Amino acid sequence: MIQEVGPDHVLDNHFARLEPEGSDRVLHFRDGACLARASSVGAGDADAGDAGDVVDLPHLADYARAPELVTYLFSLGEERFFLCLDDEAHAGGDFSYASMGWLRHAEPAHLLFAAVTASQLDRWYRDNRFCGSCGHAMALAPTSRELVCPACARIVYPKICPGVICAVTSCDGDDEKIVLTRYAGRTTALWALVAGFTEIGESLEGTVRREVMEEVGLRVKNLRFYKSQPWSFTDTLLAGFWCEVDGDPAIRVDHTELKEARWFTRAEIPAERSDDRVSLTGEMIERFRAQGRAGLL
Ligand SMILES: [Zn+2]
Repeated sequence: MIQEVGPDHVLDNHFARLEPEGSDRVLHFRDGACLARASSVGAGDADAGDAGDVVDLPHLADYARAPELVTYLFSLGEERFFLCLDDEAHAGGDFSYASMGWLRHAEPAHLLFAAVTASQLDRWYRDNRFCGSCGHAMALAPTSRELVCPACARIVYPKICPGVICAVTSCDGDDEKIVLTRYAGRTTALWALVAGFTEIGESLEGTVRREVMEEVGLRVKNLRFYKSQPWSFTDTLLAGFWCEVDGDPAIRVDHTELKEARWFTRAEIPAERSDDRVSLTGEMIERFRAQGRAGLL
């Protein structure tokens, strides 16, 4: 998954106010796109990218003028990453702005994870420049990842929206099946799992039951947490659950959200996710395809 970047790049996101040095990485965004040097930015389908494209991110030393408004974010192993909120500064050389959709397919994994994670913090800083209560300009808090209003003391924390991935399974003898869905109105037409955001006042388990009922009209039981995953593309923290259909297995598709949904046996599951190394959805589908319900234990 996207957060699995290997033992040499363990995430340390302990908050600190550090000064950047020339060898530190700089995450720099414009209209949501990330400043990067990549093998094929802007070539072909800029929003699609190809597996195997290699990306590099600027170091502070790449800037002719040291940018202002640079704040420390986190470290991955020995590498320190800073966010640049200076819209006038620009790294020299052949850096250009790459869409996050393109970066999703790029290597190496730790720079992809750094860019995606920083993009969420970039959005949070930019969306909270002014206090929502009194309108005063917000300031960085000195000891934690918060924005504070100097006038009314309002505190704004980073935005993290919980959501669930629901793998609905059934077992009738040796006939193991899983519900896969395809969204309506999206260019990516990969089969996926039931998913959705948690509403206020709702538990994660409650979200699973509601989303499965809303999207495919099934009751579920025996919910079991699998893994979670930060999904900064949409400010989300995803929790993956296995669950079993409870009662009538007849699917009723919500066509306002989904194009289609149906039961798949393991042999019927398309192998289109076998190269998906970033998403929890992909990992869960592949796990069921390879191991069936034995892999859920
Ligand atoms: Zn205020």
